[in-house]
Formats: sequence, C-alpha cells, structure tokens
Amino acid sequence: MEIYYGKSVYKGTAVGKIHLLSEPSEEVTRYSINDPEAEIRRFRTARDEAERQIGELYEESVSEVGQANAAIFEIHGMMLGDDDYISAVEELIRTQSVNAEYAVLMTGNDFAQRFLEMDDEYMNARSADVKDISSRVIRILLGRTADDPDEPSVILADDLAPSRTVRMDKSKVLAFVTVHGSSNSHTAILARTMNIPSIIGCKIELTPDLHGREAVVDARTGKLMIDPDSDTVEKARRQILEEKESRQALEELRGKPTVTADGRRIKLYANIGSESELASVSQNDAEGIGLFRSEFIYLSRTDLPTEEEQFRIYRTVAEKMAGKPVIIRTLDIGADKQVDYLNIGSEENPAMGFRAIRICLSRPEIFRTQLRAIFRAGAYGNISVMYPMITSLDEVHRIREIVDSVKAELVDEGIEYADIPQGIMIETPAAALMSDVLAREVDFFSIGTNDLTQYTLAADRQNAQVESFCDPHHPAVLRLIAETAKNAHNAGIWCGICGELGADTELTETFMRMGIDELSVAPSAVLPVRKAVLGSGGGGEAQ
Ligand code: PEP
Ligand code: MG
Repeated sequence: MEIYYGKSVYKGTAVGKIHLLSEPSEEVTRYSINDPEAEIRRFRTARDEAERQIGELYEESVSEVGQANAAIFEIHGMMLGDDDYISAVEELIRTQSVNAEYAVLMTGNDFAQRFLEMDDEYMNARSADVKDISSRVIRILLGRTADDPDEPSVILADDLAPSRTVRMDKSKVLAFVTVHGSSNSHTAILARTMNIPSIIGCKIELTPDLHGREAVVDARTGKLMIDPDSDTVEKARRQILEEKESRQALEELRGKPTVTADGRRIKLYANIGSESELASVSQNDAEGIGLFRSEFIYLSRTDLPTEEEQFRIYRTVAEKMAGKPVIIRTLDIGADKQVDYLNIGSEENPAMGFRAIRICLSRPEIFRTQLRAIFRAGAYGNISVMYPMITSLDEVHRIREIVDSVKAELVDEGIEYADIPQGIMIETPAAALMSDVLAREVDFFSIGTNDLTQYTLAADRQNAQVESFCDPHHPAVLRLIAETAKNAHNAGIWCGICGELGADTELTETFMRMGIDELSVAPSAVLPVRKAVLGSGGGGEAQ
C-alpha cells in the first residue's frame, strides 16, 4: 500500500478506483503550418465554440451551485474574449507558422505564469483559470471530449479546473484528490458546496499507471492510500457507513428547535457572503442569518455599489428569509479584503490598519450610502445591522450620530425605512474589556472570534507560520468571551458568536454554560451544532 498526504478541504471517506484526469495539453505537439491565416481561422472557430460552451456551463452551474460560485464562468468568458490573449495566440501563429494548439498552449502558459508572478492572491488564482480556458480551446482543436469517469471513481488530477468540477456527473465522483490547488480556490469551494470528500496539495507524481488502481481517500486526515490492504478498505467502508448514519441522524434534527438539555432556546443562524448562499441557509435549516458579510458585495466589483444596488440585495435577502432574522454587517473591508477603487494604499500591518468601521467613519459618504440601503430594506423583513472592528465607546457614539442623521434624512425625503436593532461585533480585546460600557449603548453583541483570537494572541490569522499561536481555545480568548456574555446579560442584551469558533462543537457545552444566546455558523455546520446544543447542559442565563 502506498500512502500520500495532502490537505483536506472537505472531510469524508471514499473507496474506489482512481480515475486519472489527463490534460489535453499533454497531447499537444508543435508543427509548422503553411497557411497561417487559415490556422488563425481554425483558432477563431475553436475559440467561438469554447465561448458557447462556457455560456452553457454558466447557465447550468447557476442552478447547481448558485450565482456566486458560477461567476467563475463569467470570468472565463471574459478571458476568452480578452484582446491581449487573442492577439498573443494569433501573433504566435502568424510569426512562427505554428499550429493553433501549440500557440494556445504557449500563450496560456505564458499568461498563467504572469498571473502567478503578481503580488495579489486573487490574481494568482486566475492562473488556473487561464489554463482552464486554454485547455478547453485545445480540446476543441484536437476534437477531444472530456474524459470523465463512467463509474463512481476517485478523481485524481494535477489541478482541477472549476469547469471540470462543476460539469462532472456527481454520481460518478467519490472524491477529489489534486496535486495542486489551494483551500480557497474556486474548485475547493465548489467541492465543499457539493459535499464531496476532497484533498488538495497531495504530494504524488501523476503517472499513467495510477489510472484504474484501487484507492482509499481519508479526507478527514488528508490521506490518499493506493492499493490499500483489506484491513484499510474494511475500515474505510465502516467509516463511510458511519458518516452516512451521522448525516442521516443530523437530517432528523431538521425543523427541530435548538434547545439545551435544560430547556434554553438558542438562536442558531448561518453566515453568508452573498444572496446566492440563501439556498444553503434553508437547505441546512438555519433559523436566520447571523452574519451577512456585506463587503463581498463591494469585493466583487470595480466601483462602489450604489444605494439602490445594495437596497435591492438586502431587500431580497430579507424577503427571501420571510421574517427570519437577517443581521447585516456593515462594510468590513481592509486587511485581507482589499478593493483597489477605495485607494487605501499599502500598509505595513494591514490587520491593525485602516479597516472596517475605521474606513466607514472617515469616509462617511460610503457609510451613509450603505446605512440608507440597510435601513430602507429593514421595512421589508426582519433586518438588524451590526458594526465591525469596534474598539471604543467614541466610535459607537459617532456611528449613532451618523445613523440618526441618515434616519432624519430619510424622513425628510419621505422614504420608508424601519428603525432596526443595531449591534456591534466584539472582535478586539478593547471591545471585550469595555463590553460592560458598550452593552448599555447597543441592542446586541456578536463576538467575532476570528479577529478576537488574532488580536488577543498577537498572531496574524493569515500567517501560516504562526497558526499554532492563533489558538481560539486559548484561555485568554475564552475569558474575553465569557466576560462579554456576562456584561451583555447584565445590561439586558443578547450575545452571540459569529466567528468560526461558534461551529466548534468541542466548545458548545462551554458556550452554553457561558450563556451565549446565539451561534452563527457556516450553513453546513448548522445541523452538527444543533446536535451539540441539544446534548449540552446549558446553565447560562437566558436573554
Ligand atoms: C470574525 O472576525 O470572527 C468575523 C466573524 O469576521 P471576519 O471573519 O469576517 O473578519
Ligand atoms: Mg472579523
């Protein structure tokens, strides 16, 4: 048995034959052509066909994985139509009299390398996309169709292009294992959306003999085992059965209230970044949205969203949630979430820099536009608003002044709005330590444990080197959470957790004892957390 290690991006176990996905680029050879103009026409016809296919893929994937995840195919469409890309291919055919497949392969590799060299993670990820569109054009030129598996298989590939992932017949995919890729790549996100056990960064050399060999994928620990012995296979099969049973057991919790063993009702909500994730909120039976990361609206564009654009999104979310709570967090841009058009400029230490509420308070025109949209949408559902990265009482007072003036403006203009609840995120040690004072000024607290951990422990959440220091179980973090919950309750307001730690079922019992009133987690974590709450002793004071 051979064992290879990688990183799990979606946990689960699989047993089956390996289906090795080959790249059409491996079949490309270089040869000279006599008529470059005819070859360019061949390229153009293939490019047009690729564009048509991508248009179709976009439509299919919108219904399968939602608009936000399908947006990648819009990017592919744009890349295929990019003048620089097209002229680079045609130039190569014309000047070197080479075949179109070769020109597309070289251009794709060249563009991919350029994306990789850019000092921007988002642009680096586009490298796989430009290779993906080039492979599609090459496949068309070679008259090849995709070599998808015809029986349920473990898909092994160098890297998986999103277009392959989304188009594959899911009943034929037991697991994904790739040599490259990153946990936040679109393919990893798609794999998670489709609930398929997946490992990336698996250190294995892809040789043709791997195709058809038996494998066990343990995506809980990130292990790929090839030619497994019978004990390993048997153990994996038992594991698959247990996973299926625990999924079924969770299904039974659908529609059940989230109450502790001693009868305290907990609000169990979901975190989302866009309207398109609403489907998974209801699929996973979340009772509301505890964190709508509104900055994703700003991140997916090249200029500021208008009031009307934002209003439409917030109103749609509120209406679709049909009376269930929706907590919209105002713009939390900065640190790892940057947009060029805000011209924030580079900072030595962006996590401690100009971000979130700091930007909003110093650029009130941006903040006011968003507040108008949120308060107006409040008239169409059960919306609350919360403010990120608070460090002082003064900020809360300044926010209140702006909110009051925005409301007065809406009254003057005769525009309908609702006087919605306003909360703050407790995600800095300063806010946690001042939570007794802050609690008297707001309607609720939501603890952002991701940032609270990094600031408390002085360990950058983005820096893999200090990952072991960034431990949210550290007693200092837990003390701040407990103190915040106590101070919230003393002031008569509720206190939730919307950071990743809220989904950590090892701590559910602890949180219930602290009296945490709300947990807002990734949609797929809703049912596991409900299970943990049902089994927990509770003991906190209700709000
Ligand atoms: C947090 O910091 O815990 C949080 C929920 O906000 P974000 O992860 O978006 O910074
Ligand atoms: Mg945060």
